This record gives sequence, C-alpha cells and structure tokens, in this order.
Amino acid sequence: METIRNLYEVAIGMLMSLRNTIVVTDVIDILIIAFIIYRVLSFMRKTSSSSIMKGIIFVVAVAWISNMLNMAVLSFLMRQVLQMGIIVLIILFQPEIRKMFERMGTSKFNIMFIKRSRYENIEAGIVGAATASTNMAKSNTGAIIVFEREVGLNDYAVSGTNIDAKASSELIQNIFFHNSPLHDGALIIRDGRLLAAACMLPLSNNINLSRDLGMRHRAGVGISERSDAVVLIVSEQTGTISIAVDGMLKRHLTGDTVEKLLRKELITAGNIKPEKGEEQKKSKKNKKKENN
Ligand code: ATP
Ligand code: MG
Repeated sequence: METIRNLYEVAIGMLMSLRNTIVVTDVIDILIIAFIIYRVLSFMRKTSSSSIMKGIIFVVAVAWISNMLNMAVLSFLMRQVLQMGIIVLIILFQPEIRKMFERMGTSKFNIMFIKRSRYENIEAGIVGAATASTNMAKSNTGAIIVFEREVGLNDYAVSGTNIDAKASSELIQNIFFHNSPLHDGALIIRDGRLLAAACMLPLSNNINLSRDLGMRHRAGVGISERSDAVVLIVSEQTGTISIAVDGMLKRHLTGDTVEKLLRKELITAGNIKPEKGEEQKKSKKNKKKENN
C-alpha cells in the first residue's frame, strides 16, 4: 500500500514539474512514440507474434517494477535482458522490418502511380469471387474462399502457399480447377488481394450443422466462428454456393446475392469508402451501365 502511495506521489510530482517545462518538441516526441507504438501493435495483430508481445510486456514490467523498488540485482539483470532483447527482436523480425522500410520508402509513389486503393482492391476481390463462384457452381468445382477482416489470419495463411496477387475471377477459378496443385484447401483474401491458397482451416464442432455438409463446409463455418472472416463456399457435390459469417451458414445463394452479401459485409460493414475521384469514376460507370 505504502509503495503504491509513493508511486502515486512520484507520478504526481513528475506531472507538476513537467507542466512548467513541457515544450512543443516534447509534444512532437510523444506523438512520434505513440505512432510507433500504434504501428508495432497493429503489426503484432497481423502476425502470430502475440506470445512474443506478452513476453516483452512481462520483461518490461519486471524491469520497471524492479527499478522502482530499487532491487539492484534484478533491475541490473532485466536491463541486460532488455539490451540483448532488442538485438534478438531485430534478428527475429528482420524480414518484417525490411518490408516495413521498403513500404515506407515507396508508399507515396505507389499511391500516386501504381497502387490501387483499398476500396478498388476489395471491389475487385468481391466481383472476382462472385463471378468465379457462379462459374464454379455451374461446373461443380469445389471451392472455399476466406475474406479476412479485422482479425488477422496469418496463422492459417502460413499453412498454405503464399500468392500475393490481384484478384480476378480467372485466377480464382484456376486455383480451384480440378486437380490443380492449389485446389485442395482454402484461398485467403486480404483487402481484395489473394494472400494464400491451399490453406488448412479449423473445423467447426457445431452439432446442429446439416449432416450432408462435409469437411469443406465445416472448415468454412469453423473459421467464421473463430474470427470475423466472411467465407464463400462452393459445393463440389451439389454446385450450391454458401456464405458463412459468425458461425452461421447461408446456403443456396445465387451469384447476384453473393455479390450483394459480400459487398454488405466487406464494404458497408467495414465502412470502406472510395477515395476522391473514384466516386466520380464509379458513378460515371454506373450511369453508362444504366444507359446500356
Ligand atoms: P462438397 O459439397 O464440395 O463435397 P463437403 O462439405 O461435402 O463439400 P468434403 O467433400 O469433405 O466437404 O470436401 C473435401 C474438401 O474440402 C477437401 O478436398 C479440401 O479441399 C476441403 N477441406 C477439407 N477440410 C478442410 C480444412 N480443414 N481446411 C480447408 N479446406 C478443407
Ligand atoms: Mg462432400
């Protein structure tokens, strides 16, 4: 109790002294640190590194507490661990750090000249998947397509083959084409881009699922129970198209309904908006369609 009160008094004392000494550069300093922490946290969420994160938080907390309580040996040890830890982290995340710097260096250029916006990519993914599923249903080609949303699916993507390609109905159909090397397992789509194919998904244990549903449908429902993903499934046996969201399976959908449902879940619910200029392009396109 005494320690907590001391801590509180120290914190208040620091704040009072800071009030008089704080300058603009301090604010900028804090903002930069907040931004770095935000980027690190969002990166951690996308990777399977949450256990590493827990370890780091633990070590930092022990170091801080031992320092506050003047525990000389423990605090010395923790300082050493932290110093070495930084080098270990750099080695562990070397590929990710390289990618981050590459992205930082080229992002402006990409936005201006090359990169399609997130909205455009997601739209392309929706149209590609809906068209592909309609065609695959006609030819009784089995398929399972997972659209990632907020919850990162890297843990499942690594079980398959990395693709990283623009979405198109042709490419999606090619992946699921009978006996093609990547047809077995699920295709994962992130922000409209094809991330990985032939991925293993967790199966649902829901005993209320219809008995005529096999592994493909159980895998689709399974991943929608464990994450906020939207899953599109084409049955090889019956040629029916289904969508699983939050553990619920909507079956016997038409191509049009698939497109509408995907748009509702991925664009409307995700509050994804076209960038300036795209809105005009889009309405021009729609007008053209209506005139034809
Ligand atoms: P269909 O109506 O297409 O026959 P189904 O629900 O009856 O589908 P199965 O006949 O068992 O399912 O389909 C087997 C296929 O489902 C496998 O070839 C594989 O591509 C896919 N699949 C099975 N288990 C998984 C899994 N855990 N993760 C991803 N895909 C899976
Ligand atoms: Mg089957």
